[in-house]
Amino acid sequence: MKIVPVPCSFDNYSYLLICRKSGKAAVVDPTEAYPLQQEIEREKVQLSAILCTHHHQDHIGGIMDLRQQYPDVEVICHLSEKSRIRVATFFVEDGDRIQIGEVEGKVIHTPGHTRGSVCYHFDDHLFVGDTLFGAGCGRLFEGDARQMFNSLGKLAALPDETLIYFGHEYTRKNLEFAIRVEPQNRGVGRRLEGVNATAGITTPTTLALEKKTNPFLRTDSDDIKTILIQQGEADLQSPVEVFALLRRMRNDF
Ligand SMILES: [Zn+2]
Repeated sequence: MKIVPVPCSFDNYSYLLICRKSGKAAVVDPTEAYPLQQEIEREKVQLSAILCTHHHQDHIGGIMDLRQQYPDVEVICHLSEKSRIRVATFFVEDGDRIQIGEVEGKVIHTPGHTRGSVCYHFDDHLFVGDTLFGAGCGRLFEGDARQMFNSLGKLAALPDETLIYFGHEYTRKNLEFAIRVEPQNRGVGRRLEGVNATAGITTPTTLALEKKTNPFLRTDSDDIKTILIQQGEADLQSPVEVFALLRRMRNDF
């Protein structure tokens, strides 16, 4: 399988997944059609599916134009987003299998950013939409902290070498926040230096790197807890409470 990240709009990422054997392809989260059409033509592949991680407009804005050009394309989303992605044609739930050419993927339901947020997992490749970012995670628009915490726990249980393809380029700002809440984590500092030096595309990341540098996957860190308690949050008991506070702090950062 070949994966082409396609930067769209201001800071969005759409992705083109290609099954080399069959020449079939899928698009994940089409922000806008034009840059994706260009990649589809350049790669000379047949678009068979559009995979939607959630219903936000900056992830589905290109669907109508793509369907006009490729009328047979299947538009896939979680069952609970049916009424909000009206052009969707096929609905999935947690654990469902999907097929792109000869490549099989699995749906992981990860509510939190929206109720129907899903991630798509193909071999070592995981498409997470706005659930997880480089050194960060999505805002809790429709879910609560416990839901998102549990969703991130599902992703963290995948193999460390999993490549993670996220929906927005927020990595630098996320690392600036990460260093604020875990200043002694040298991995965070090194990662921020690297991002500042290249100032480029940071997708994909790996689960191993996120576990080392993403505070939202490090809610059991005593160092983070100590910093938060020093800032006046005396009654932090559980990792979920640490997560909820980190998310609120990041909203205002
Ligand atoms: Zn979103």
